[in-house]
Amino acid sequence: DQKAVSVLGLGDMGAALAEALLAAGHRVTVWNRTAAKADPLVAKGAARADTAADAVLASRLVIVCLLDYDSVSQVLAPHTDVLAGRTLVNLTNGTPGQAREMATWAADHGADYLDGGIMAVPPMIATPAAFVLYSGPSGTFDAARPVLDAFGESNYLGDDPGSAALQDLALLSGMYGMISGALHAFALVRSAGASAREFAPLLNRWLQTMSGWPVGAAEQIDSGDYGKDVVSNLGMQEAAYVNHFTAADEAGISAELLAPLHALMQRRVAGGHAHEDLTGVIELLKK
Ligand code: NDP
Repeated sequence: DQKAVSVLGLGDMGAALAEALLAAGHRVTVWNRTAAKADPLVAKGAARADTAADAVLASRLVIVCLLDYDSVSQVLAPHTDVLAGRTLVNLTNGTPGQAREMATWAADHGADYLDGGIMAVPPMIATPAAFVLYSGPSGTFDAARPVLDAFGESNYLGDDPGSAALQDLALLSGMYGMISGALHAFALVRSAGASAREFAPLLNRWLQTMSGWPVGAAEQIDSGDYGKDVVSNLGMQEAAYVNHFTAADEAGISAELLAPLHALMQRRVAGGHAHEDLTGVIELLKK
């Protein structure tokens, strides 16, 4: 049955995925450890599986979206006998190593395996804002793609099962950098009595102004030439960065979210790279 899809895990994200599949007209079977989370989906036409094994047996295509890889192992390890001939699409957040290990484990039990990283929050699923990274055998991706496209734009990254997790974590690290800076910014303006809501449009505008930063940085990073086209040299930036700590002291807030980058900037300046760009800090991340 080409229209049959099972979803294991009905947290915020798994439930959104199941809902998108229902909306796209698939025959959806759902399972969750806490069974009551299936109720709203069953009311919308999903079939409830009483066990994870039943859910796997109900469809050739099985979407897994649980908290972490440990939960996936706990849920699937007792049911290896039902995996043969299935395609597992694991959209649980994890590491490249975990993804490769699970791909091997799935193959050992006769299942095809795709790993994925969801670049969306649950309300974005099935909207143009959502994209999902996938990696694993191209034939497996091509066969599953018509179903997976229901979640958002499908981005296939190649046959190494670890690629999706790697790029997912890379994208999330960019996001957490932005969030770290924004949290510090809000703490600073609130210390002066301003509301976060009033300040947010300015912060948003500034982040959008700077949102092209990775494209220019990528040129310097790929070439290793951190002195190319410098408009904001590191010596200047380091001198200005110190003001964050003084201002935080004056405001009575902690600047700990900003401290790690400063330590790297200082080491880079001390190494004689003050005339180069901030991008050169990446050299210090190599172990
Ligand atoms: P939730 O915390 O809402 O749900 C967690 C799910 O995992 C629940 O279904 C829970 O079952 C299940 N679970 C946890 N531990 C176990 C276990 N030991 N055995 C069986 N089931 C278990 O998380 P989300 O749905 O938001 O996230 C799911 C995955 O999607 C995560 O890997 C997350 O990183 C990823 N993701 C989430 C995004 C988001 O914004 N929400 C964005 C992109 C990716 P129970 O209901 O019984 O507790």
